[in-house]
Amino acid sequence: MISPNMHYAELKDSYLFYTIKQKTLAYLQAHPDAKLCHMGVGDVTLPLCPAVIRALHEAVDDQADPLRFHGYMPECGEPGLRETIAAFYRSRGVDIAAEEVFVSSGASNELGDILDLFDPHGSTLIMEPAYPAYVDVNTMAGRQIYHLPSGMDEHFLPMPSDTIHGDLIYICSPNNPTGSVYNREQLKEWVDYANLHGSVILFDAAYEAFIEDDSLPHSIFEIEGARTCAIEICSLSKTAGFTGTRFGYTIIPAELVRAGMSLNRMWVRNRTTKTNGVSYIIQKGAAAVFTEEGRAEALSNLRYYKQNAAIMIETMERLGFRYCGGLNAPYIWMKCPHQMDSWSFFDYLLNELQIIGTPGIGFGNCGEGYFRFSTFGSREETMEASRRMLAHPW
Ligand code: PLP
Repeated sequence: MISPNMHYAELKDSYLFYTIKQKTLAYLQAHPDAKLCHMGVGDVTLPLCPAVIRALHEAVDDQADPLRFHGYMPECGEPGLRETIAAFYRSRGVDIAAEEVFVSSGASNELGDILDLFDPHGSTLIMEPAYPAYVDVNTMAGRQIYHLPSGMDEHFLPMPSDTIHGDLIYICSPNNPTGSVYNREQLKEWVDYANLHGSVILFDAAYEAFIEDDSLPHSIFEIEGARTCAIEICSLSKTAGFTGTRFGYTIIPAELVRAGMSLNRMWVRNRTTKTNGVSYIIQKGAAAVFTEEGRAEALSNLRYYKQNAAIMIETMERLGFRYCGGLNAPYIWMKCPHQMDSWSFFDYLLNELQIIGTPGIGFGNCGEGYFRFSTFGSREETMEASRRMLAHPW
């Protein structure tokens, strides 16, 4: 009999968003007229910007024309688009070559697939609270996971520890769920640590476009020494509303070598074996995000979410709640009042104020007692949630 991958049996039930949905449905069944404010799921709500829509339509028309039709695309990405993304990095002072850019169907795919490059018996360091997929993909792969918890006093930005090590280090900055962002000095410590120990940093930059503070790094490659120890995983999901369209890119520098093996060359071999590239239509739509017009339009959508964040920040301030995030990230992370645990606060907000958020415990044990608000919802619901919270006798 075939033996399945028994590591799947070690996975915890992914009950977080499922339970939120079930509790919400039960509430609506009991209160069919309730007007809920949805501040839970981190999915965008604004449509794709006009420049992208135009490019997608053109690409569809190309596929109908025998002279402009495209079949299989190059597995690592259309060369012109790889160069465009490299040029985008260079415009920010980061020297990246087109061959170091790999086009993908989004960050989630890459965060798990990239484990193919490493010995499955190796270890992974995950800073928590964390995007839950980090733990799950490493569990599925059978890797040894070490958790590095963090708290409000260190702004949820844990630094290298003498006692907890991992060969592969996941860093998410700006962070989901806490909204915290590492500064240059802090990232330099992680880069030095990784180079010293021969580890590799997987830098998840899915929210880099939300950084407002010019002193904060958007890319790990802004840090000296990162080219010998880091892989960066990026996505247009939140930058340009591609959650349902699917596009991302991964940067693997030529200098990233372990045990004499070039990780860049290994990833070329992996992609050319395991994928047939991202679709022509999607790559053409993604290219439009890197045009002047596309960038301006995508930024205008980001500003909409940032105004939602500003409303929630003001709400937190006026209520005197302890919180972080929101300034350089689309999430607000707050300490639940009155020592409530995460799920009790979820129930309280749903029942008393008809607001839905995400319990912090879903992002790791140290998220217990915290709560995440997403700012990707509509302005109306965000303002209504704020009004209800401010009017509530806490
Ligand atoms: N990384 C982080 C930290 C995320 O929060 C998300 C999605 O919410 C992803 C990656 C997944 O992004 P994508 O839509 O590109 O798969």
